[in-house]
Amino acid sequence: MTESTRAAQILWQCRRHQSGHHDAFISYRVGSEASFAAALAPLIETVGLRRSNRLFRVFLDSKCLNDAEDWKDGFLNGLQGSKLIVYLISEASLNTLIGKTMDSRDDNVLLEIEAGLQLAEEKKARIFPIVIGSTNSTGVYTTFDGSYFSPDKYPNINHGASGKNVRSTMSQFFRIQGSRVEYSPSSQGTLCAA
Ligand SMILES: [Zn+2]
Repeated sequence: MTESTRAAQILWQCRRHQSGHHDAFISYRVGSEASFAAALAPLIETVGLRRSNRLFRVFLDSKCLNDAEDWKDGFLNGLQGSKLIVYLISEASLNTLIGKTMDSRDDNVLLEIEAGLQLAEEKKARIFPIVIGSTNSTGVYTTFDGSYFSPDKYPNINHGASGKNVRSTMSQFFRIQGSRVEYSPSSQGTLCAA
């Protein structure tokens, strides 16, 4: 991070919490995990409030990004100022990541994974992947396919946005202990704290 981006980070505040710092950040792909992310954010807030007995700030781009700011700057600022980064990972999202990187296009989900791994390495944040099922184009829900944990699934090329090797990043990412959640369309709205 350069000095100017560090300064921008200190000054940046989200519109919902009026703060540059969040207890948790939810990383997801709008095209496939928007409804899960929207259901998960209040759940983490509730559990966090119960456990810490204070307001628990969860960064969700749809609630926290400021209207006028550049979207990429906004989510990277939010991510850099969060203590826990939760990743919602589905087969659909990973297929997009693979397709875009193979076409030499930038992928923001991958950018968030790279940034989170860096923060974790610097002990500035903890990261927590959650793998979830997907609904395919014909509307059929399937559970997460475990073959996506294999590094061979990802292109052995560099991500243009960062210059980092895609396969190494994903291999490092899936070595982190995460969780698996089933969230089929029929169960929407029933995600609740145990
Ligand atoms: Zn916020």
